[in-house]
Amino acid sequence: MTTLVKGTCLLNEPMARHTSYGIGGPAAAYVRPANREDLISVLDFAAENQVPIHIAGSGSNLLVADSGVDGIIVALNKTFTRLEFDGNRVYAEAGVILDHLVRMTIKRNLSGLENLIGIPGTLGGALIMNAGAFGSEISDHLLKVHLINIQGQEKTIPAENLTFGYRSSSFQPDEIIVAAEFKLVSGSPADLKQKQERAGSGRKSSQPLRFRSAGSVFKNPRPDLAAGYLIDKTGLKGTRVGDAEISTKHANFFINRGHATANDVVQLIKLTQAKVFEKFNIKLELEIKTLGFEPGTFRS
Ligand SMILES: Cc1cc2nc3c(=O)[nH]c(=O)nc-3n(C[C@H](O)[C@H](O)[C@H](O)COP(=O)(O)OP(=O)(O)OC[C@H]3O[C@@H](n4cnc5c(N)ncnc54)[C@H](O)[C@@H]3O)c2cc1C
Repeated sequence: MTTLVKGTCLLNEPMARHTSYGIGGPAAAYVRPANREDLISVLDFAAENQVPIHIAGSGSNLLVADSGVDGIIVALNKTFTRLEFDGNRVYAEAGVILDHLVRMTIKRNLSGLENLIGIPGTLGGALIMNAGAFGSEISDHLLKVHLINIQGQEKTIPAENLTFGYRSSSFQPDEIIVAAEFKLVSGSPADLKQKQERAGSGRKSSQPLRFRSAGSVFKNPRPDLAAGYLIDKTGLKGTRVGDAEISTKHANFFINRGHATANDVVQLIKLTQAKVFEKFNIKLELEIKTLGFEPGTFRS
């Protein structure tokens, strides 16, 4: 395996090193393919040897089990980083850091992505999650997406053939996003600067950015009803299990105070779901993605 991969291949690699939570046991292999050919040869190897494949970006929305993950984690951050501009059109590979992409568009006075400044992670992860902030979503100005499926077939899908919702997309579990194209519009430098500053100060004032987290743990049950509000009203802010804590600054952020385990976070998730259900009769749904857990772990 290590000789097959041209990029990086780390065996028995702790996922705590590759998640914003700083949590997660070992992946049998953590691979950063050098390019598309390399990615396809990893997919071929996995198919021939019947090894499961999981895709990751920068792990900023991922909770990985303490026992780790069977199979190969393929991460496209750090290698799939080509970014090209042609007038108001942008071609970006999936490993481009979203914040960098946004800054590069602002620098060119292109409008459409500026509200997303400061969202951690890669473009690939953002498209899967349909990441959004301040009324904008990554899918808003999307033209097309380039994919490779787990069988190694490449295809390009126009945006109109994709469906995006609140923190959701119609990509299939066997589809790996390798690049995307956007068509932006000309923006006024003053307006872009103002939106950039609003997003930056909004994040600083409302999010516990000094601590490791994976952003919002739960989806908002309705556009006018924030999960954080419901959690706050149950009085759970500041509740701790081990080193995992429901942030006192933003109740939908669970922070790692240093040595939190995935199990600590799971206990907090269950406690929060139970309390919110008890008080409001609302079942909070996870926004974060989970990897490596026993089936049923998150069923209540
Ligand atoms: C402090 C903080 C603030 C945040 N604020 C926001 C916010 O305002 N709005 C928001 O929407 N999110 C927010 N998030 C969550 C997170 O940043 C986003 O979900 C981000 O888009 C995830 O990108 P990633 O590369 O880290 O994806 P990962 O966490 O690595 O993966 C997320 C999912 O995408 C899949 N995936 C990743 N790359 C690919 C690919 N190339 N092809 C196919 N599947 C892929 C993974 O399998 C997984 O299911 C925040 C997180 C943190 C830590």
